[in-house]
Amino acid sequence: MQIPILCYHSHIISSADYAGNGHLALAHDLALLAEHGKTVVPLSWVIDALIHKKENIELNNAVVMTFDDGSKADFLPIDHPEFGPQPGLYPILLEHARQHPQHHPNLHASSFVIASDTARLCMDQKCLFGLDWMTDDWWPQAEASGMISIESHSWDHNNAVCEGVRPGTGDQFYSVNTYAQASHQIRDAAVSIAAVSGRPPEFFAYPYGHVNNFLEQEYFPGYQHQHRMRCALTTRPKYVTWETLPWSVPRFVHGEHWRDPGSLINIINGQASIT
Ligand SMILES: [Zn+2]
Repeated sequence: MQIPILCYHSHIISSADYAGNGHLALAHDLALLAEHGKTVVPLSWVIDALIHKKENIELNNAVVMTFDDGSKADFLPIDHPEFGPQPGLYPILLEHARQHPQHHPNLHASSFVIASDTARLCMDQKCLFGLDWMTDDWWPQAEASGMISIESHSWDHNNAVCEGVRPGTGDQFYSVNTYAQASHQIRDAAVSIAAVSGRPPEFFAYPYGHVNNFLEQEYFPGYQHQHRMRCALTTRPKYVTWETLPWSVPRFVHGEHWRDPGSLINIINGQASIT
């Protein structure tokens, strides 16, 4: 097993081309993956195989899609103040599935959202454009679509602009290193997300990709009966293999680990230079 999990951000648009626009890149990549004999499958298929150590022939040539931070552009079109109308990631998946149903018959993506209403509002106003991109009203529709799952990206992303984040500990997730903090960021987040989306999240994506020993080796494995997560995803640019540990599942991030289609071809063909 050597599976790349890809990560896109729908709200961070830094240019009008492939390198800086996840909408544009995703639309391109769906065709590119198919051309290279790859098929997008749900994250749950890979994690099931990993946890049960069970071969699954459907994972040959599999690629997984994930979206981070949970702006509504994961699911709906947005109008970007600088770069204009963007189609939204789910509409791109839907359109590709309509035009090329044979490419990815199990097309699916996991959207990692932030639980706290106040944190999302704060990020929308202080880090984005105050255009209501961080709402949660689309979560149930996304779940109902069958093509997007709503998963957890923590309580408040430990974003320094959010109230309640201890001064000097924000904009990173390494500082979440006690039971109380972890339980808030992970268990409380799961409960809160489930209340809106209608389904308890199963997967966690570390904000900023930051994983520490406490979370990886103590909190996640030791308190699974409380948080009920099945795996946690980092942003280490590696493949999922039989050796992958469920609390540090690697991912490749668009705009960071690949910025052009050629680099993605290297990744999906197992030739990414791994650090
Ligand atoms: Zn994030």
